[in-house]
Amino acid sequence: MLLLEYEAKEIIKSYGIDTPKSRLLSYGDESHDLSVPVVLKSQVPAGGRGKLGGVVMVEKTENLAQAIDKLKRTGIKGFYPSYILAEEPVSIDSEIYLSLLINREKSCIEIVANMNGGMDVETQHREDFFQQDIASNGDLDRLSKNLVSYLKLSEPVDDELTGFLHKLLRCFVENDMILLEINPLSIKKGAITAVDCKVNLDQAAKFRHPDWNFQNTARDNNFVELNNEGNVATIANGAGLAMATVDAVKSAGHVPANFLDIGGAATVETIAESFRKITLLPAVKVILINIFGGIVQCDTVAKAIVEAKRNIPNIPSLLIRLSGTNADIAKVILQDEGIHLYDNLDDMVNQL
Ligand code: GDP
Ligand code: MN
Repeated sequence: MLLLEYEAKEIIKSYGIDTPKSRLLSYGDESHDLSVPVVLKSQVPAGGRGKLGGVVMVEKTENLAQAIDKLKRTGIKGFYPSYILAEEPVSIDSEIYLSLLINREKSCIEIVANMNGGMDVETQHREDFFQQDIASNGDLDRLSKNLVSYLKLSEPVDDELTGFLHKLLRCFVENDMILLEINPLSIKKGAITAVDCKVNLDQAAKFRHPDWNFQNTARDNNFVELNNEGNVATIANGAGLAMATVDAVKSAGHVPANFLDIGGAATVETIAESFRKITLLPAVKVILINIFGGIVQCDTVAKAIVEAKRNIPNIPSLLIRLSGTNADIAKVILQDEGIHLYDNLDDMVNQL
């Protein structure tokens, strides 16, 4: 389960690891009273944002609104952000790559580092990486010394780095992580700062963490952007029905913007989030909602529709068919709001 950067940073911060001062801008939070310069970072569950326009530095207040708007409309590997992290820029001397991960072959935690981190770390040769197992007794003193000499740091930061690695390791273990990656890590004047942070949690350990409540759980992986110029968005449940819905839009001569199977675990919140994602697709004029309630209940979907209509300005027009579990309750909820329901997919497609 890949976390968003701000979620990952919240975890590491709680272990005393420094991150840049930041503020999270959520959907509809258009307050541009940010101080400049500021780094705006698209909160999507994908890496390589820097190269894809998902991380931008804004120097002037008058450019903020446009930069935020552009970020929201910039898809990163098919993901659109519901949040933007606004951070105070950190001046970095050298960008260090540092990660903890599980080495499954050796059944241990491993630390990997590269002194030439940053956006091009992938191009570094394998043999140039620092790579060492973490001893099962958690002894980090020697490892830390080795790392300091590998990084060729000009400042004496052995103690700080050892302390930092201890925090990182504890954070990794206690949170059942399979990857904790900091890139870039900045070490400057004794201060160690995680400028970016990527965390992958072990989904199998979820039962141990009733408090895990992150944006990007599996449900979001069912949202696939198909075409940035698509004029019809779709919300359906079940992969088969979702595909049939997309196909029907296409056959009728329209351009499907996305594929979305809301899944059996859909809640009002997750569906509302899907609506927000759709509204970030620039050309969408109609949202076609095709639900056959089985595990997911039609009234849940109806409540999410009402919420979306109330909270999302300029929401595209909706064509809705809900049948199956609790369809009768859903009907009442929607009729109270004056929202029309269709009986089947064909009828909806004919309205496009
Ligand atoms: P990623 O591309 O998804 O890994 O996103 P990052 O958060 O790593 O940002 C991409 C790049 O932007 C980093 O590798 C840095 O080079 C640069 N960057 C991001 N934030 C800052 C900052 O506060 N100061 C400086 N100097 N560079 C930054
Ligand atoms: Mn990064």
